[in-house]
Amino acid sequence: MQKEQVIIIGSGPAGLAAALYTARAQLNPLIIAGTMIGGQIAITYEIENYPGFFSKESTPTGPELVEIMQMQAEHFGARLAYDEVIEVDFSSGSPFTIKTYGEEYQADAVIVCAGASPRHLNVPGEEEFIGRGVSYCGTCDGFFFRGKDVVVVGGGDSAMEEGLFLTRFADKVEVIHRRDELRAGPTLQRRALGNEKISFVWDTVIDEIVGNGMVTGVKVTNRRTGETEERATDGVFIFIGHYPNSKFLTGQVAMDEHGYIITDEMMRTNVPGVFAAGEIQDPVYRQVATSVGQGAAAGIQVERWLSERE
Ligand code: NAP
Repeated sequence: MQKEQVIIIGSGPAGLAAALYTARAQLNPLIIAGTMIGGQIAITYEIENYPGFFSKESTPTGPELVEIMQMQAEHFGARLAYDEVIEVDFSSGSPFTIKTYGEEYQADAVIVCAGASPRHLNVPGEEEFIGRGVSYCGTCDGFFFRGKDVVVVGGGDSAMEEGLFLTRFADKVEVIHRRDELRAGPTLQRRALGNEKISFVWDTVIDEIVGNGMVTGVKVTNRRTGETEERATDGVFIFIGHYPNSKFLTGQVAMDEHGYIITDEMMRTNVPGVFAAGEIQDPVYRQVATSVGQGAAAGIQVERWLSERE
């Protein structure tokens, strides 16, 4: 059993900001980094809206931002464990037990920053063709669709941003959206609607993804007319929102009906000594800037909580 003062679960912007603040408070935090350092921004191509990180010559990328955040946290003493949490026990209060694949830890305080994952459509063919035409990440997989036709599902900022990114590779990007109005903000909407490679199929839902080893098409229904058809495509990129990665915390901290951890304005959960920050507790903003702010706040509160206990 390894004893720690502060364990941070997750290494996205919230986790790395919490690590920076607790490291600078001399708390020697350990980040259990999960499968990928940086979380979702590590697979985001360009980040234009993180204040203070900008150049007129080229838009900064997600991995560049992650690298700097990690370097900054480590510089002040944060440590990283490349492992994944499988179970926690918060039932008897601090110190808390955290089990990973490789180790069992005890920690005086915990900051949960495990983020969120892309939602699935849950239609026939989706699971079968993951990695064979079905994707949840344009940045990761766009390159494989050079000169091909792809479908993007969703009408939010992610769908527009990723759809625009995919026009770098694909010949044609067809956005299939269940309504006749986009949810995305005005800037991304304007860019997507004005892009000649992008076309829109409105009021339409996907019933099935079909293929023959690889994706060849989607079966769809028009929700207004009830008309069904099969549309040919080489790839289906799905951007219909996210769900919080909180399953391993079931029964340990209070959550809402969607699995988001409930925190107060000081990032406290209902368990004294357990804090949460970033997309695991924020279904609303979901920005790098807001996650970093929440992570910093959690880091400050942990320091206060630990010193009040002494
Ligand atoms: P989102 O805003 O929740 O949009 C999800 C989209 O998927 C909506 O258009 C929704 O349709 C559609 N959808 C949901 N379930 C569906 C289903 N089962 N079948 C078909 N369509 C479905 O999610 P997001 O785009 O991932 O964005 C999440 C948050 O991150 C937002 O706050 C967004 O502003 C932010 N974000 C910001 C940026 C940026 O600032 N550059 C980039 C990415 C994300 P309806 O519209 O009909 O509900």
